Amino acid sequence: MNEISVPRPNSLDAYWMPFSDNKYFKGDTSRMIARAEGMSYYTPEGREILDGTAGLWCCNAGHGRVEIKEAIQKQAAILDYAPTFQLGHPIAFEAASRIAEMTPEGMDRVFFTNSGSESADTALKIALAYHKARGESSRVRLIGRERGYHGVGFGGMSVGGIGANRKQFGALLPYVDHLPHTHGLKENLFAKGEPPAGAHLADVLENLVALHGAETIAAVMVEPVAGSTGVLVPPAGYLKRLRELCDKHGILLIFDEVITGFGRLGTNFGAERLGVVPDIMTMAKGLTNAAVPMGAVAVKNGVYDTVVNGVAGGIEFFHGYTYSGHPLAAAAAIATMQLHQSEDLPGRARAIEPYWQDAMHSMRDAPNVIDIRDIGLIGGIELAPRPGKPGARAMDVFRRCFDAGVLVRVTGDIVALSPPLIVEKPHVDRIVGTLTDAIRAEAA
Ligand code: PMP
Repeated sequence: MNEISVPRPNSLDAYWMPFSDNKYFKGDTSRMIARAEGMSYYTPEGREILDGTAGLWCCNAGHGRVEIKEAIQKQAAILDYAPTFQLGHPIAFEAASRIAEMTPEGMDRVFFTNSGSESADTALKIALAYHKARGESSRVRLIGRERGYHGVGFGGMSVGGIGANRKQFGALLPYVDHLPHTHGLKENLFAKGEPPAGAHLADVLENLVALHGAETIAAVMVEPVAGSTGVLVPPAGYLKRLRELCDKHGILLIFDEVITGFGRLGTNFGAERLGVVPDIMTMAKGLTNAAVPMGAVAVKNGVYDTVVNGVAGGIEFFHGYTYSGHPLAAAAAIATMQLHQSEDLPGRARAIEPYWQDAMHSMRDAPNVIDIRDIGLIGGIELAPRPGKPGARAMDVFRRCFDAGVLVRVTGDIVALSPPLIVEKPHVDRIVGTLTDAIRAEAA
């Protein structure tokens, strides 16, 4: 193994690591990543770790893409930064146009953010501004879903439905309700692709309408496939039903496509794969292949028109970030979208999906496996928790996989997989083989 020359931290104390067990990590520094290329990460010692998660569901085109690196370098030499408040720079407009080409038809207006969390909060604010511009300022309620994840800003956290992410932080936003999650129906266990049962769970929206009145509800926000909570694929017909109910009651439908965007489901966006077009769509992660932080919110043209025409003169939407449309991020996004097209990354994902699906479901007989779910190039393997120690079993499996040279992700007792879309059959075999061995070893 080659030693890689990377600077070593002289102390682990200063960095407060996000979503991490800081005390544990700082007592066990074996999980450092120094370099990445193609399908793999490398530790400072040069040990290869096959990336079964595309980083955090984001490096869809694989790591170390020269095309993206060069685009960033070139842009840095031309224009490091310029504001986009009452000013513009060409590359931000180009990036927005390219995104509009990839989104569903009629969704051609794009607002830039720097992350998925900012995209979620931006989308919610657009929904509120939209109703206000239409003279329906009573529409202030936001509806999310149990187990939903929309980042960590106050909007996305409040509409999100993962208890652990909310409980530490007090009252959160008022006027928020949650639809039930779609997991747990017996008929759906070990379903391949969209599970058969559960479309009726969308009808709970009618209950909320009956309770509060449609005239108080601004938007419903869901991930087309709930990722961070452990890969919950929507039951067949569920999103369509949600769309119909939103239309019936004048409620905007927001898809959080931060994970499902940019080829993950074998199409540009989840909306296309699942056959339902929302009014507003958030994105981040795969937009720049994660080489530079960037997020975006695409909206239907009518939503944009309503907001900008709803205000007479002056600033129409009092919202934005210093780095909205940042030149380096815009350059990375354009280069990434070009790769999507030139290498047909969604098509590659579609081509390998059957093999991936079979490999995922080959783990069915491994010990403690109680469910397996998949769609596109996402998979979730749910393990029975150790008695009295939720999450411990999957964490043990995660460590065993890392030690054996494969990166997986765990949430609770679910192992989530989402490899770069350039994944090939031998990689799939290695990810699934290593994971199966780890599950077996943990149970032994
Ligand atoms: N929405 C969804 C659906 C996500 O999966 C994530 C990140 N996992 C976010 C929002 C938040 O994105 P970020 O971490 O870039 O703020």
